[in-house]
Amino acid sequence: MNPIFTAKFGGTSLADAAQFRRVADIIRADARRRLVVVSAPGKRYPDDDKITDLLISCQKEQDKAQFEGIFGRVSARFIGIRDELGLGFDIEAELEKIKSDILSGEGYDYAASRGEYLNALLLANFLGAQFIDASELIFFNAEGKLNTKKTYQTIKARLTGCDLAVVPGFYGKGPNGRIKTFPRGGSDITGSVIARGAEAVLYENWTDVSGIMMADPRIIPEARIINVLTYRELRELSYMGANVLHEDAVFPVRELDIPINIRNTNAPEHLGTIITSSTAEPSPYTITGLAGRKNYTVLLVDKAMMNNEIGFARKLLGILEKHRISVEHMPTGIDTISVVFDAQALGEEQWHEILAEIHAELSPDSINVIEDIALIAVVGRDMQNRYGTSGRIMTELGHAGINISLLNQPVSEMTIIVGVHNEELQKTIRVIYDVFAKS
Ligand code: ASP
Repeated sequence: MNPIFTAKFGGTSLADAAQFRRVADIIRADARRRLVVVSAPGKRYPDDDKITDLLISCQKEQDKAQFEGIFGRVSARFIGIRDELGLGFDIEAELEKIKSDILSGEGYDYAASRGEYLNALLLANFLGAQFIDASELIFFNAEGKLNTKKTYQTIKARLTGCDLAVVPGFYGKGPNGRIKTFPRGGSDITGSVIARGAEAVLYENWTDVSGIMMADPRIIPEARIINVLTYRELRELSYMGANVLHEDAVFPVRELDIPINIRNTNAPEHLGTIITSSTAEPSPYTITGLAGRKNYTVLLVDKAMMNNEIGFARKLLGILEKHRISVEHMPTGIDTISVVFDAQALGEEQWHEILAEIHAELSPDSINVIEDIALIAVVGRDMQNRYGTSGRIMTELGHAGINISLLNQPVSEMTIIVGVHNEELQKTIRVIYDVFAKS
């Protein structure tokens, strides 16, 4: 491992010249921050434009006058940052080239990625750092997946000797030599890939919050920051809707056990959240955090003596697989199986087909469909060492008059899944948060 940090700065961290100055101070404050990855300028205030959104609109725009108007807004943002920072960099030439490329038919990926490209050029110029284009470091294969071998080898060869390099996030090069982007929010993935390739000791992800909160702050405004959590806990929380970091950003760093540190550009004194493979630090509140998502469907299949019928579950799952349904949970009883999945994309006709197939193949006594279920994941690496956690949850939800439709606790005991009616999602999160984390 190399004693260097990869520091990724998000869109709000680099939204204007004042933010650029903060970022430069952070980078200069620790000489190990040698590999910097940047997003495109984000919003400065709630109804401001994100540069990436503007660039995507430009690429789609058919009307020349409209195009000019939108591209003008992009140009003004970058020229404004350059001027306020007092840089002599010729950003106009870069903007002209991008404009003519988009007008001559360059596609979505190229246009969407140019905010990162320009921001990295400006930050490199401001810091006196080396600019290294992501298209020279990150490679995709013909299936659109990251070519990890080539990418990591190239990053190691090109970046480990750099004193200070700035790399644009969000994109790389496809097998046809053209720019290809990650999914939206993908600069987080770039940061992780760069940290992995350079074998950095830390991946810092600088954003506009001081870490990952125990619960969604829109529901729990006073939610506490989690100091330390494991990759697995993060995965459970982000799958259920907690989104500070792009989900796919965990996998590259996880391979080498490189910790991720979520930090706040606007409050650098705060140590933020550390995400790591394992930690001896107990979570101070029994649970590490909780998150929830709405609109699941539960399919309940009953059949007397089901437990003697070998292959029942496999046949049921086979039918769902045929209809390309991904099953989230499968709590079972002696004569009951329930499967939980997201049925929003299913049409009425497909539903009828599925139910008819279950009747024909499994001859159940009854099938019940329960819709509009919200699932709440209560996550905590320490729950298995403390008894009574699910009991407390059930008791308190009972006192609050919330009906639990489903309760699932895998043997690993790292997560308890509680299913309630959609309308009860927020109240459930509030009750569970208060049980464990209220001061
Ligand atoms: N700028 C891109 C987006 O808005 C990528 C990123 O910021 O991570 O999705």
